Amino acid sequence: KHAGGQTYRFFSSDMKGAFLSKVQMETDLREAVKDRNQFELYYQPVIRVADNSVSSCEALIRWNHPTKGLVSPIDFIKTAEDSGLIIPLGDWVIQRACQDLKKWEEEQKVKLDITINISPCQIQQPGFVRNIKETVDSFEISPDRIQLEITENGLMENTSDSINTLQKLKDYGFSIAIDDFGTGYSSLSYLKQFPVHCLKIDKSFVRDLPGDRADRAIVSSTIKLGKDLGLFTVAEGVETQEAYEYLRSISCPYVQGYLFSKPIPESEFIQLVKERKSK
Ligand code: C2E
Ligand code: CA
Ligand code: CA
Ligand code: CA
Repeated sequence: KHAGGQTYRFFSSDMKGAFLSKVQMETDLREAVKDRNQFELYYQPVIRVADNSVSSCEALIRWNHPTKGLVSPIDFIKTAEDSGLIIPLGDWVIQRACQDLKKWEEEQKVKLDITINISPCQIQQPGFVRNIKETVDSFEISPDRIQLEITENGLMENTSDSINTLQKLKDYGFSIAIDDFGTGYSSLSYLKQFPVHCLKIDKSFVRDLPGDRADRAIVSSTIKLGKDLGLFTVAEGVETQEAYEYLRSISCPYVQGYLFSKPIPESEFIQLVKERKSK
């Protein structure tokens, strides 16, 4: 009985702890979304293999939690989606990305395209297309400077609505990229239905290049597929010179990864771009 009581207490406090932390994360996230100063966009360059230049950049959100420090999006995007907070948070990301792009142009004379990650929850929001169009218009940015990244699985929910939304985005001039390409549960036939511009090969296929035979087959086939379909292809997660050499040998047009730069704060990023340009 005594032991049982202890066990009960043990489980009870353990579960309460876990529950509290999920609730806590949502509470803190709600607070952060209100005040917004806790969020920051980091940027990672996308490199054009042909001339080694910075072709564009991907915006990746960071949360500076007042007590926990820097929190990775891997740890809070899901909670943001489950709680609906991803909608105001996603709006903030779009707003900030446009603001940064404009700032680089006006203050640094650097004209770069930008890639923004979009959650499926945002795509399914009725006013999404109108909203994003209004935002880019308010910054006087041409939509063809903006690429929206959506995961393969994200697109497969409500397929006909998604096609509709993507078509409208495309009509306005936005580009669409399929993120984490190859990891979803969909068939390739959606490439025929969706107005897609770019495939981003998931880093799980890139990490072990050139050693892994299956990865070589998957990556080189995807690059060929992209080329034949007239799409841009980006290999993500390029960490080693060997992986890069291999990708270059199979004519991969674009790469992204720690070998070139980790995602870094906006001010550092624009310095990096300027240094690379002057080389
Ligand atoms: P993702 O869109 O697939 O982004 C790529 C992730 O890989 C980033 O992690 C990036 O820091 C990391 N990465 C880049 N190069 C390398 C490399 O060479 N090696 C390795 N191992 N990793 C590399 P991060 O920034 O932690 O973001 C994780 C995920 O969170 C993103 O995956 C994306 O799905 C989501 N996310 C990030 N920012 C946003 C956002 O603003 N909105 C939404 N909805 N999701 C976001
Ligand atoms: Ca992405
Ligand atoms: Ca463009
Ligand atoms: Ca990815």
